[in-house]
Amino acid sequence: MKLGALEFHVLVSGYFSLDGGAMFGVIPKTMWEKKAPPDSRNRIKLAMNSLLIRAGGKNILVETGAGDKVNEKFRDIYALDGPRLVDELQNYGLHPEEVDIVINTHLHFDHCGGNTRIVKDKVVPTYPNARYVVHKGEYEHAMNPNDRDRATYIPDNFLPIEKAGKFSLIEDDRVIASGVELIRVPGHTADMLCVKLQGGGKTAFLFADLVPMTPHLGPAWIMGYDLYPMTTLENKKKWIPEVARGEWIALFSHDPDIPAAYLREREGKVETEPVKVD
Ligand SMILES: [Zn+2]
Repeated sequence: MKLGALEFHVLVSGYFSLDGGAMFGVIPKTMWEKKAPPDSRNRIKLAMNSLLIRAGGKNILVETGAGDKVNEKFRDIYALDGPRLVDELQNYGLHPEEVDIVINTHLHFDHCGGNTRIVKDKVVPTYPNARYVVHKGEYEHAMNPNDRDRATYIPDNFLPIEKAGKFSLIEDDRVIASGVELIRVPGHTADMLCVKLQGGGKTAFLFADLVPMTPHLGPAWIMGYDLYPMTTLENKKKWIPEVARGEWIALFSHDPDIPAAYLREREGKVETEPVKVD
């Protein structure tokens, strides 16, 4: 997919499953199970969608998935499955050494687990020549999580990056390469980032976990995981209409069927028109 001089691809860095009730917060199962059928353990299937962006002569990776450091128990709880991001990159002729920038919208395990990998019993950065960009507030929270979200902040996913001096922590919204803007959008966490891509008069917008899947376009469809659900609601009311009216391409971090779509507002409801991206 090209936006002027900027090029991007959606790469699946694996699949996993989460409790359907937790994924849809206050929405009753009788409603969400029609859109996301649960398995026998009440889990629904999510993709971990990453972006490969080529802009301003840089190879940029957004989100690294859950990675492959996890043990069997973890793999079973979350039904982790599917391709490895490094293999997907290979399909584009790209070696891990050639990635210049890695962006983590936040540091939950399903967004940054692939930041690192195990080589000879040591956890090392998967992308040795990249700087890893994350919001400073999110990084500080990951280093000092609370009792409610500790399980998702796995030190091996980010401490080795810190030790290697490869983090680039941002405090304000930032254009990090030509046409690639990081925007702080709180709600899911206090300092989550969304990614806006622009070029050739066109725009794409990665919702990250503001709107993880297309069913979450409905205002009340907010994850039980969100630390600040009312802020999520506020930001959905700000960004969804903006994406729809601007005819931007909406990108969904976790939708297993529709990674990209145009949004159409009809009679107060938001509908999707899937966009084919490779
Ligand atoms: Zn997520």
